[in-house]
Amino acid sequence: MQKEELDSFVLAGRIACDALDFGEKLIKPGQSMILILDQIEEFIKSQGAELAFPPQISLNNVAAHFCPDQEDVLLKEGDVVKLDVGTSINGYIADTARTIDLGNNTELVNASKDALAQALKLIRPGVQIGELGKTIQETIMSHGFSPIRNLSGHGVGRYRIHGAPTIPNVETGDITELKENQTIAIEPFATTGAGIVYESGVSTIFTLRYEKPVRSPMARQVLQEIKKYNGLPFASRWLTKKFGVAKTSIALRELSQLGMLDAHPPLLDKAQGLVSQAEHSVIVKDKAIIYTKNK
Ligand code: MN
Ligand code: MN
Repeated sequence: MQKEELDSFVLAGRIACDALDFGEKLIKPGQSMILILDQIEEFIKSQGAELAFPPQISLNNVAAHFCPDQEDVLLKEGDVVKLDVGTSINGYIADTARTIDLGNNTELVNASKDALAQALKLIRPGVQIGELGKTIQETIMSHGFSPIRNLSGHGVGRYRIHGAPTIPNVETGDITELKENQTIAIEPFATTGAGIVYESGVSTIFTLRYEKPVRSPMARQVLQEIKKYNGLPFASRWLTKKFGVAKTSIALRELSQLGMLDAHPPLLDKAQGLVSQAEHSVIVKDKAIIYTKNK
């Protein structure tokens, strides 16, 4: 790994960790989710990083991909709050998440946190990917919860947030070995529910899949803006701020109909159980570099 690449990952990681610390302090009952997200985005940019994806706050039975587009969605007492942020420096990505408990779910929060810690201990070149999943599953179950089996960790690359390899949250028997200098995100999810998520509700997060000629000037204009995100996920709210609600929704509909966009709707536990998440990004070495961890 080149020094410039390593330095970029490490800086992106430090800013992502600081952004979680910053965001965690804002997470309180009665606060507007969107205003918290706006502040986190500003914080990340003020530190000189780009957003690798829209910061997300997913509540309770929602495991991921919730990013409200209205200010009146408020946090409340008892919420299990997942805060997930992604930063990029020169395209090199850091992806990290933690759970903030506004109720009495300490054990659930600890389950994913502990699973992540146990998996990180195993990281070195040559470790089998199935071993990581097995450890995550066993740790979560030892706390009395279930891992979410259709969500997983992933490779992170330059301008690529979800690459190979897939890091499972359950035992898969995958004998693929981690290689030196691979960059991966590990993200166990623990739940009181079914341990399977499904897509539900309206998507506010999208990715440009590929480009095609676009006829309407409105969609073309919005597409020009979307191209600035370099193929990384974006929030519809970013476009709304620039183009207004009507124009954005018409343009997004047109681009979707042309098959150019991937939508990422909220992911809910099938039994509506509560969900906790913990995530770090790591560079595989004999002594692994957990670059989203400041201390
Ligand atoms: Mn994440
Ligand atoms: Mn991730």
